Order: sequence, then C-alpha cells, then structure tokens
Amino acid sequence: MKIAVYPGSFDPITNGHLDIVYRCLDIFDIIYIAIAVNSSKKTLFTLEERKELIEKVINTKAELKKKVKVVVFTNLLVNFAKEVNAKTIIRGIRAVTDFEYEYAIYQVNRELAPEIDTFFLMASREYSFISSSIIKEVARYGKILENYAPQEVNQALLKKFGYIK
Ligand code: ADP
Repeated sequence: MKIAVYPGSFDPITNGHLDIVYRCLDIFDIIYIAIAVNSSKKTLFTLEERKELIEKVINTKAELKKKVKVVVFTNLLVNFAKEVNAKTIIRGIRAVTDFEYEYAIYQVNRELAPEIDTFFLMASREYSFISSSIIKEVARYGKILENYAPQEVNQALLKKFGYIK
C-alpha cells in the first residue's frame, strides 16, 4: 500500500492544491491531505473550517473520495507520516521562490527521518500563479477568481468577508 502525506496550510484549498492531488491519484493508494497547525502563520479560516471545506470538495468527486483522507496534524510532519505509515511527503513547486524553501524543508525532513522521502511536483502551467494568499486578497474586496478555487471555497470566502450570508 503506497501511502503519502500532502501537508500544508490549505487556507483555503485552491485548484492548484487539487491539481497536485489529482496528479498523485495514480501514484499512491492513500493520500492524506494533512492540515498543519502552524503557529507562525495567521490564518483566515480556522482548522475546523479548512478541514470541512476540503472534505466538502473531496466528497463531490468520487475519484478523490476513494483515496483521499483529510486530517489535522499537530506533531512534527515526519512523525505524523510515520504514524500513518506514509513513506512519502508530497509537495508542489510553483516558482523558484518555492524551491528554496522546499529544498530546505526537504533536507531537514531527510535528516529527521531518512526513510521518508519527498515527492515534488511542478505546478501545472494554468495553476502556477494560484495561491491561497491571492484568492484571499481578491475576495477581501468581494471579487472571486472563478477558476482559482472550487465553488465551495469561493462561497466560503465571500461569506467570511461578509459579502453573502
Ligand atoms: P504551506 O504553508 O506549507 O506552504 P500551502 O497550503 O501554501 O502550505 O501549500 C501546500 C503545498 O502546496 C506546498 O508544497 C505548496 O508549494 C503547494 N502549492 C500551493 N499552491 C500550489 C499551486 N498553485 N500549484 C502547485 N502546488 C501548489
């Protein structure tokens, strides 16, 4: 059984994140979308809201529902991976700016747990400029970028900023 963990803040999940998950479906049997409790990042959505949103999106797609589980993890990423028997961490890379950060984290994780490796996927061209930060910034002013995030997420953003009930 090939088990992988896809960690991140997912504040909120975007079509860029989902593209990475879709592309991993044929490679892994189980993919844990693992929401990190990151004390240094101020998030718009609470952990519960982020988890609920991802679950809502996953549940609308049969192919995702079969293989993807959504969890929140509070411990060190490699320890969480070991707990769920995952040998692989999935990360996406958009630009060179992502690379430097990802490479550093990768080295640290290898040092902590040499038996766990990281699988990097380059962002698809159409999603390479999508980030949670951008969609939040635009939604703050009541605008939605239609193809950047699932409909459930766009609704939640407008609600969060008080544009819809
Ligand atoms: P973190 O706070 O750990 O960076 P994010 O939720 O921002 O968490 O992202 C989780 C992972 O998804 C990271 O590896 C990030 O590089 C990747 N990612 C984010 N947006 C995209 C995108 N548009 N295309 C591909 N990968 C992405």
